[in-house]
Amino acid sequence: MDMAVISGTGPIALVKPATRHTMQARVAWGGNVVTVGGDAPVRVQSMTNTDTQDAGATAQQVAELAYAGSELVRITVNTPEAAEQVPRIRERLDAMGVDVPLIGDFHYNGHRLLTEHPGCAQALSKYRINPGNVGRGSRHDQQFGLMIEAALKWDKPVRIGVNWGSVDQALLTRLMDENGARAQPWDTRQVMYEALVQSALGSAQQAVDWGMAPAQVILSTKLSRVQDLVAVYRALSARCDHALHLGLTEAGMGTKGTVASTAALSLLLQEGIGDTIRVSLTPRPGEARTQEVRVASEILQALGLRMFAPSVTACPGCGRTTSTVFQSLAQDVDEYLRAQMPVWRTKYPGVETLKVAVMGCVVNGPGESKHADIGISLPGSGETPVAPVYIDGKKAMTLRGEHVAEEFHAIVERYVEKRFGQGAAAASDGR
Ligand code: SF4
Repeated sequence: MDMAVISGTGPIALVKPATRHTMQARVAWGGNVVTVGGDAPVRVQSMTNTDTQDAGATAQQVAELAYAGSELVRITVNTPEAAEQVPRIRERLDAMGVDVPLIGDFHYNGHRLLTEHPGCAQALSKYRINPGNVGRGSRHDQQFGLMIEAALKWDKPVRIGVNWGSVDQALLTRLMDENGARAQPWDTRQVMYEALVQSALGSAQQAVDWGMAPAQVILSTKLSRVQDLVAVYRALSARCDHALHLGLTEAGMGTKGTVASTAALSLLLQEGIGDTIRVSLTPRPGEARTQEVRVASEILQALGLRMFAPSVTACPGCGRTTSTVFQSLAQDVDEYLRAQMPVWRTKYPGVETLKVAVMGCVVNGPGESKHADIGISLPGSGETPVAPVYIDGKKAMTLRGEHVAEEFHAIVERYVEKRFGQGAAAASDGR
């Protein structure tokens, strides 16, 4: 019987994230200027969970987050004692050669901390202000104004970060009252969305009225549910061109937090919404804080927005390969490549584009391996116990025996040196 073929009218459209159209903020420490928004790459940021009063532990964690790829790191500044330690943290980082800009996270008393601790105000590179937590009634504008004054005095950008859990109650009450008077009231959640967006935009306008350059005002409106976040950021993006900080707040731990953040951020980034991202994961006891940087980087890399580390394609395994050899090899190669990146980034420019495949049997193994720069197809159950290795699409050798993992490792190292090392650069220069 003939198979019916349904053809389209032209080539299937290529898909890529939409272009962002935002103003560009500059977050700087020393010579390190991290641009956010405009044509800058989507930035990865993270936040410490150490006690800021412990300058040693906080500086150490900031350095770990920076080494993992966090381009900006936020620290809590909640007490006078913490504010006093901020310059000490900065000094320690500078002594370690870590120039990542620090962002101060303020709630309730930021106006006092920034005015009474000038060393803190100066050592930070950006201030995060939550307009729902800067004071009530007449004190709101006065205290918010003091924080903006500090930003102007020290020439720092700000993030106006509205949060679902601490939205401006006076604004919300007014919008609820207005909604009650509507002939056809909105859904309560839509009123909440409006409160979040208006709080962010109204505060941004206030900051600009007081002298902030509009480009130096970054906005965020964080919520904890994916569909809510998408709805609010779409509205925020449509109504302003401030750079946007994107993150799902209180995402949770482990797989749930990772998946929820990935779903939310991917949907928005694909639409061209989001200039810097943070993945707010609750670490499991003993889990490294750097996991949130890893997830954020992986999201950007999976969407094709940025490249951070070589990618390892591994099949999921199935009944055709019951041994765990390929799982261990895939994990081993992935961890090895990632561990090398702090050094490789400078030693082997472009190495982040490397593609490695580790496959479990003959079904997709050779095909997938040929598409990678280096691929290995391990033998499935009942197959001849040999592992062909493909380099640049061609079968280069066959490994066998007990030391396949070590030998493959060495092959990857040699390939990286040859393709991305100084020898490769000299060869391409024709020297
Ligand atoms: S490559 Fe082989 S082992 Fe891996 S999922 Fe496919 S069929 Fe299963």
